[in-house]
Amino acid sequence: MSGFTLAGTVCGYGTASPYGAHTTGFESRWRPELGRAVADGAVGGASNMLPPRCKLAVIGAGWGGVYTAWRLAIDTDTIRASDVCVFEANGRVGGRVFSVHDLPHFGDLAIDVGGYRFQESQRLPADLVFGALKLPTACYDYGCQSQCEGPQNCYILRDTYGNNAGYASVVERMLSDLEAGGATVWFGATLVSVEQPSSAYSGAAPNSTVLRFADGRAGVLADRVVLNLPANAIQRLDRSSVLFTDSPAPTVRVY
Ligand SMILES: Cc1cc2nc3c(=O)[nH]c(=O)nc-3n(C[C@H](O)[C@H](O)[C@H](O)COP(=O)(O)OP(=O)(O)OC[C@H]3O[C@@H](n4cnc5c(N)ncnc54)[C@H](O)[C@@H]3O)c2cc1C
Repeated sequence: MSGFTLAGTVCGYGTASPYGAHTTGFESRWRPELGRAVADGAVGGASNMLPPRCKLAVIGAGWGGVYTAWRLAIDTDTIRASDVCVFEANGRVGGRVFSVHDLPHFGDLAIDVGGYRFQESQRLPADLVFGALKLPTACYDYGCQSQCEGPQNCYILRDTYGNNAGYASVVERMLSDLEAGGATVWFGATLVSVEQPSSAYSGAAPNSTVLRFADGRAGVLADRVVLNLPANAIQRLDRSSVLFTDSPAPTVRVY
């Protein structure tokens, strides 16, 4: 699309998409002009461009996909963040965790309309939030009385005023870390199939796949794929995709 440059690392996708490219901003805000909540980084112009190749493609910017990318690239330095592409179908991140800002009459409060809290016994969110990211939290229950679904406390993320910062703020923070390291996040990129590379992709690494997205854009050659989608989204993928055992192509290991 004219006027769009891939200078940033957060990208919109598709001319029909209302999403676009900004270099920062994963918070979702209510946009009256769009009638939906969209991430800051997804608003603006739109791009037809997808990267020709990604060493690691993460499909789905929910907690699971983003944590996997963050753990590999930031926490353990197993791969370079600049080798990571995150593809998200929506114009926002978080998936089933959905924190909305700027809702009319709610001031700057973040409203969670999906997952909203974690129990201190849930090691993954607890260790990540308390330990690795050291994000501010507040007890969900008044007085921290250790009575949240058993004899324990539940926590929410809190902002500098002590209000709910939104459970998705953890996902947003991990994506910001990834972006700062050079990862690319694509909004409005709906995966439709995972294919075996044709002979046109000479020199492709073993077990590479070609990812196809809605709108028929050029395929993305991916050395490795993390497919972090709900089961119904996986079932909607083209049945010829190599991850299905009834695919005519040999099954490829998709991470
Ligand atoms: C009502 C509700 C309340 C909950 N409460 C809590 C709670 O309080 N605390 C808690 O810890 N957990 C809670 N959970 C569970 C938690 O929300 C999920 O375990 C978690 O969000 C799952 O994350 P995920 O990344 O695996 O999947 P998802 O969050 O579903 O993320 C998948 C992502 O993939 C994207 N996607 C889908 N199809 C495609 C495609 N074809 N191409 C590209 N992208 C695609 C989606 O848009 C989405 O962003 C709750 C869940 C629900 C539904």
